[in-house]
Amino acid sequence: MRQSKFFIKTRKEAPADEVAKNAKLLMRAGFVDKLQAGVYTYLPLGLRVLKKIEQIIREEMNKEEGQEILMPSLHPKELWQTTGRWDSMDDLYKVTDASGRENALGATHEEVVVPLVKQFISSYRDLPFAVYQFQNKFRMELRAKSGILRGREFIMKDMYSFHRTEEDMKAYYERMKKSYAHIFERMGIGARTYLTYASGGSFSKYSHEFQTLTEAGEDVIYICDTCHIAINKEIIDDQKHMCPICGNEDLRTETSVEVGNIFELKTKYSAPFNLTYKDESGGDVTVLMGCYGIGLGRVLGTVVEVYGDDKGLVWPRAIAPFTVHLVEIPSADANVRAEAEKLYNELTARGVEVLWDDRDLRAGEKFAESDLLGIPFRVVVSEKTLAGETVEVKERITGEVSMRTRDELFKLFAV
Ligand code: ATP
Ligand code: MG
Repeated sequence: MRQSKFFIKTRKEAPADEVAKNAKLLMRAGFVDKLQAGVYTYLPLGLRVLKKIEQIIREEMNKEEGQEILMPSLHPKELWQTTGRWDSMDDLYKVTDASGRENALGATHEEVVVPLVKQFISSYRDLPFAVYQFQNKFRMELRAKSGILRGREFIMKDMYSFHRTEEDMKAYYERMKKSYAHIFERMGIGARTYLTYASGGSFSKYSHEFQTLTEAGEDVIYICDTCHIAINKEIIDDQKHMCPICGNEDLRTETSVEVGNIFELKTKYSAPFNLTYKDESGGDVTVLMGCYGIGLGRVLGTVVEVYGDDKGLVWPRAIAPFTVHLVEIPSADANVRAEAEKLYNELTARGVEVLWDDRDLRAGEKFAESDLLGIPFRVVVSEKTLAGETVEVKERITGEVSMRTRDELFKLFAV
């Protein structure tokens, strides 16, 4: 993509009312825009990152035999009354239309997915299976000061699994634990993301959160370095300040953000909707469920919080909007443009995602903006680089500069 064609411009200053580092950097770099507190637009660069995050999650959910669907946002009140959450869920948005009909804006989708699958499940042969979606959720969050970490409208991947037995539900839950760890690993936050024991509510002893260490987080966790797991502050008293695995009492306190959550729902939502199957002897048995969420914007914002530096954004390669920022230093010598265009075409033909800064701006301005955008590799084409056989490559995350031949470049960026 050619940067001269962008309709977005970067900004010198973040909006004064924005306090979160993630939103400040993302807005300055033109990745997102704020419509109102907790409600953001994804602009072309931000959307490319979001889609990469989505695709990694999709690949991993498909590996676990998840089947992708897309459920609506507008939910009839009656469904939410069936589970009691029309009255009990404080952050539910409720809308009334001109004819007086009341709806909830989906804050989560148990109330929709259970009646949906009820139409298709009759026998034990229909189980197990799992469905998932990427969908906008609406929650009336009181504090919306954490940028895209806490939206009032935000995109979640939510998966729901359906099982005959508790054993089967638990086995799938364990698969999801591994799958989630792998997802965060792929996104570049694996080393600082902890499987965290949290309250399971009234149905299970624990649920598990995936908590990523960052000062921007709103949670406090206690880490056991022996087992590489954590316990959420909210349950630490029940846990007697001990690691639930090894009993270690020497726990380290950290601030973190919850990027994902997995839950054994058991019959919590299947029972109110009477979601049952016929077992081998023809008896009716209530279906067991698990649910598994990841906030896409929250992951994106967390990566910004973790990697962003004083110069701007820094993207891990797997979710970067582009792999290469090709910076052409404008010159009266037409060979510079020709060389940049050639390199752009060659890289693009090899499947490398390249953003080509073909604008007529000063070098200093271009470099500062390149640092702000945070694309993993910067390749400079200028009068100077024309003379030699090599081009200059700068890695954003380390700041390391190296000179590379074309072949080395193609190898480095190979997809
Ligand atoms: P929190 O305690 O942070 O409010 P939650 O327990 O309400 O989170 P869940 O209902 O388990 O969150 O949602 C699943 C996932 O969706 C979370 O792990 C998080 O990644 C994401 N998420 C939840 N609320 C928001 C929000 N307001 N904005 C962005 N992402 C969110
Ligand atoms: Mg919440």
